[in-house]
Amino acid sequence: MTRRLAALCLALLLCAAAALPAVSAEVPTPESVLGFKVGEDRKLADWTQIVGYFQKLAEASPRVKVENVGTTTEGNPFLVVTITSEANMARLEEIRRANLRLADPRTLGEDEARRLIDSGKAIVALNHGIHSTEVGASQTSMETAYALATGQDPDTLDILDKTVILMLPSHNPDGTQKVVDWYRKSLGTPWEGGQIPFLYHKYTGHDNNRDWYMFTQVETQLTVKYLYDRWRPQVVHDLHQMGPRTARIFAPPYVDPWEPNVDPALIQAVNAAGTSVAAGLTTEGKKGVVIHALYDAWSPARAYPHTHGGVRILTECASARMATPLEVKFGELEAGIGYDAKQAAWNFPDPWPGGTWRLRDIVDYQVSATRALLEHTARHREYWLRTFYEVNRRAAVRREPYAFIVPGEQKDPLATAKLLGVMRTGAVEVYRARAEFKAGDRTYPAGSHVIPMGQPFSAFAKTLLERQRYPDLRQWPGGPPQRPYDVTAHTLPLLMGVEVVRADAPFVAALERLDAVPTARGSIAGGHGRFFALGHKNPELVALGRLLRAGVPVRWATAAFLERGFNFRPGTLLVPENARARLEPMARELGFVATPVNADPPSLLLRKPRIGVYQSYVPSMDEGWTRFVFEKQLGVDYETLHDRDVRGGGLRARFDAIVLPDQSRRAMVSGNPAGSLPPEYCGGLGKEGVQSLKSFAEEGGTLVAIDSASDMPIAEFALPVTNVLAGFGREERPGADESDQGSKDFYCPGAILAAQVEGVSTSPLAHGLEATTPIWFEGSPAFETKTGTVVARYPPENPLLSGWLLGDKYLRGKAALVEVPLGTGRVVLFGFRPQYRAQSWATYIALLNALYTSAVTPLAP
Ligand SMILES: [Zn+2]
Repeated sequence: MTRRLAALCLALLLCAAAALPAVSAEVPTPESVLGFKVGEDRKLADWTQIVGYFQKLAEASPRVKVENVGTTTEGNPFLVVTITSEANMARLEEIRRANLRLADPRTLGEDEARRLIDSGKAIVALNHGIHSTEVGASQTSMETAYALATGQDPDTLDILDKTVILMLPSHNPDGTQKVVDWYRKSLGTPWEGGQIPFLYHKYTGHDNNRDWYMFTQVETQLTVKYLYDRWRPQVVHDLHQMGPRTARIFAPPYVDPWEPNVDPALIQAVNAAGTSVAAGLTTEGKKGVVIHALYDAWSPARAYPHTHGGVRILTECASARMATPLEVKFGELEAGIGYDAKQAAWNFPDPWPGGTWRLRDIVDYQVSATRALLEHTARHREYWLRTFYEVNRRAAVRREPYAFIVPGEQKDPLATAKLLGVMRTGAVEVYRARAEFKAGDRTYPAGSHVIPMGQPFSAFAKTLLERQRYPDLRQWPGGPPQRPYDVTAHTLPLLMGVEVVRADAPFVAALERLDAVPTARGSIAGGHGRFFALGHKNPELVALGRLLRAGVPVRWATAAFLERGFNFRPGTLLVPENARARLEPMARELGFVATPVNADPPSLLLRKPRIGVYQSYVPSMDEGWTRFVFEKQLGVDYETLHDRDVRGGGLRARFDAIVLPDQSRRAMVSGNPAGSLPPEYCGGLGKEGVQSLKSFAEEGGTLVAIDSASDMPIAEFALPVTNVLAGFGREERPGADESDQGSKDFYCPGAILAAQVEGVSTSPLAHGLEATTPIWFEGSPAFETKTGTVVARYPPENPLLSGWLLGDKYLRGKAALVEVPLGTGRVVLFGFRPQYRAQSWATYIALLNALYTSAVTPLAP
């Protein structure tokens, strides 16, 4: 549009608005603030501009309130925007409190509930831009907000009257800013609108919407606190984009499976709302709308509302090349789970014929989808509040099971406190026993925790505390597996190494409700000795990191020893007596007990290891999670190594251990293809980089390869190790393409398996691990080795603990963690993800063992 035409349009708009209340004439359009129209080719508003727009909008419109509720991971403002009628805005707090009353029906009579349902407002959250390269949604947010702020038509007024809309213009402002900055620099280059060479969330990248139960990231925490906890929305619209050769937009119903603890009324509510959105879009003449395809509703990691009385309506729009238009021919459209983009069907009645697809199309589809959802919610306000109330009421009388008990005596008090913290953040009521009590045939000590299932959000707790049995879904009967959208297991007690007991029968105990997240409590035992003996779990290993950072010469006993009538296990840490002042507050904070001893067992003298973490320009989410776990949970210092740093050689002089996070061999060695990104981001490790890593190990370094990254040293260094699952990968199977979902002989797309730890006497890597340790397996390798030490191995029976595994016979007896000597150093191969999404505390220990044993001097007794 020319500037003159734009001015004319604005003039017409002002004339048209003259007859209406004065306020709408003063409300700024996005274009008047940004200087371009939302959705224009090759134009994106960055986060600074979006924040600027919302501030101006709120200043001008009494229907809009903008709050900066906190600071993101990288220091940007995090906005929550509230939009509703002026009348509602004047009594917002009263509306909020009424909604929270419906969230907890335990103290609500039926008459009172009916009154609240009659007078209440439906709460709708609009979550934009959680995935930053899916650039449409954050642009859409401005157009949606403007339309709501200025609309005077009956439908808009009805929406504003009957709903309170809570909008996140971006769930990941850091990424919104970084991706737009990158895109602008890419304009006019061959890589315009293509891949980006970094994670768009500092630690999690695309996994930032897999954090809705663990709550590890600042953005998740702010959303839970200021949106979910504060309001308890009935409806959440989560706006995403998918690939370009798909339907133009997906809306629910989701395909099976659903997480079995989600109330059936919510499943039907999702079906109703999603279908209503799809119907609205199709009536408008928008083509390529698909329902009941592609996306399932299994993992609670992506759907917080489903266990809190509400629904998550996911929409996924086809992508362009960011803001650059894309030509898609009809013949290039692809099939996916539940539909074929070239074929009309009941759930896809009007295929898109192909053509040019641009950012403006995405914004149009998203604005329409949001509008359809808001109209649906407003029209069915009473139904939504009734459903919310009934679902919460049913949960509050749940008796199967009666409760989960977290016994007071735990091997890892730190992980236990974290697990209880997850429950509290998820709005689950947690109780502490004031005195010993009996449940079933077991007696629990005072200080044990109880999570009764008769409470409104018990579905959240039950889902995370029990084991998952994923259904055996096939593409056709007897055919290959149907790929789950995400992973198949989320059992926190297994992942975190915390004992949790299911209690089916009611029991009596003196309980007090916890208001705050409980912290572990530890101490220094009485007596004197040359050392304090510490165990070898997460609390002690976190302390070890701090002690080494302070230069304290800690020892690591490599054999068991007996003292004061206690049998101290291999791996006992010995902290010099003179470090008491440093140790004592750590014991209290982290929850471990330090015991004075005089023993002098064979041990390793530790110093702080110098650690490198490889970061490819083909971004690896596992690399981001590794940094998060190191920085925020375990206190491990590290340096990031890029391809050029590795290729430069001389690594042994600078590092004791180098970590290769989960990534394919090809991505590491070859990197991005030439021409796909600026030259400095192309090419990968290359031959030089591979040789440099090999020399590092040969010269005494510890190379730690996590999960798929193991394939690189196995193949490139010609290690005498085989990945017995190599033949089941997509790349290895003839005829397999992008639509291939997995081999019917062996398939495990993310589950918790049991591994037996067997190297306690031969490798310190085994120290601190349980004899049977739950590990996170996700399309991982499994090993046979002719040399070195097997630290953990799959049992002779089916190792599945939680989730879905096909072809367990291929794993039986195979190694899951091996230490392979190379020159004077070693390669440690993890056939699993020891630091999976900052959840798998049970196996953090193995990773820390590999790192802390990389800088040691053996001491004779
Ligand atoms: Zn997405």
